Amino acid sequence: MAEKFKAPRGTFDVLPDRMTQRESLLRTAHRIFGRAGYDWMMTPSFEDTALFERGVGKSTDIVRKEMFTFEDKGGRSLTLRPEGTAPVCRAYVEHGMHKLAQPVKLAYSGPFFRHERPQAGRYRQFHQIGVEAIGTDSPLADAEVITLFNDLVEELGVPGVELRLGSLGSIEARREYLEELKSHLRSRSDELSDDVKDRIEINPLRAFDSDHPGTKEVMGDAPQLLEHLDSSDAEHFEQVKELLGAASVEFTIDPTLVRGLDYYTRTIFSFVCDRLGAQSEIGGGGRYDGLISQLGGPDTPAIGWAAGVERILLALDEEAPAPSRDLFIAVAGEQQRTRAVALAGELRRAGVSVEIDLAGRSVKGQMKQADRINAARTLMLEEDGTASLREMKTGRQQQVEPADVLELVRSD
Ligand code: AMP
Repeated sequence: MAEKFKAPRGTFDVLPDRMTQRESLLRTAHRIFGRAGYDWMMTPSFEDTALFERGVGKSTDIVRKEMFTFEDKGGRSLTLRPEGTAPVCRAYVEHGMHKLAQPVKLAYSGPFFRHERPQAGRYRQFHQIGVEAIGTDSPLADAEVITLFNDLVEELGVPGVELRLGSLGSIEARREYLEELKSHLRSRSDELSDDVKDRIEINPLRAFDSDHPGTKEVMGDAPQLLEHLDSSDAEHFEQVKELLGAASVEFTIDPTLVRGLDYYTRTIFSFVCDRLGAQSEIGGGGRYDGLISQLGGPDTPAIGWAAGVERILLALDEEAPAPSRDLFIAVAGEQQRTRAVALAGELRRAGVSVEIDLAGRSVKGQMKQADRINAARTLMLEEDGTASLREMKTGRQQQVEPADVLELVRSD
């Protein structure tokens, strides 16, 4: 026998019994974003590598270690998108969306790719849904996008979710703080993990995210960014908190919150779920007021977030609902099969979910199949041209005219 294939490491198949929950999650997201005026868009699955180097940041784990990068036949370096914000901003600039009424409010969903060590809740191809409000620095936008995430979690019924909120301040105001943090890290560099030590100069904030015991100890005494915000950043953060309070969105302030992408400024947030293990974040985001200009666009403040579809599904941990159909059409004789095909087509076009036997089963086999697919009713086409309709739950059966079936099936 020929060798079998497996899905590549860190990827997975979504079999039909798991699709229903995914689709319903996406439908909920569509409803929530749509009613707040966020329009859906799509970007390609791969982009110029330089977009992520410049947009996400060369010092980040994503760009340093996790990108699926390849050369096309023309020698251009391309990368499977590891995240969605840089591509959406690239599209905003490319299509001159700054000329539209601001902010431009966008939503997206799709597959993303990171070469991470696979584990529960962490894959090499995963799916995100996200929103971006581009073209305003108003705290109203911060509160709006965070509220949308909160609504999503509530409407889906994800249990045990906590919102953590922080502020990184603006890039200029952060500079002074970063110098202070670097000198704290340098003064105790022998206690730090190699990874953090290597990045003191380029990305000292990431030290807050480390699991390394020595680094954690050092970070316990580190100066905190929230105490170093300048007055306009602090005022912005106060307003975001006030607006979230007014919208009854509960949150905790986390002065050590940082995110794995370089573009964030001011508000950052993370939704974590206590039902998940080590990978407990279901989503997060923040402001990225400098990104659009870094990508060659005009100075344009913006905010957004992304949530992991698989993490949300894991947190929901729901039994997959059994599939069901309105009707199974069984035939008592071979010559009835053509009638079954025609009738099934007619009923399907009228919106009824109908299956027929495609495997040449006996009458008994067909009745078993009707049970297996969870059909609410079975229509039996008899050899003499008559038909009977059976309610599968009660076993009640009645003679019917095939022409009346649509009416009967629709009556509940
Ligand atoms: P990020 O784009 O890094 O801010 O991540 C946003 C969300 O995407 C996270 O909170 C996760 O829910 C999800 N996510 C990120 N990386 C992965 C991964 N490798 N596998 C599964 N989900 C992920």
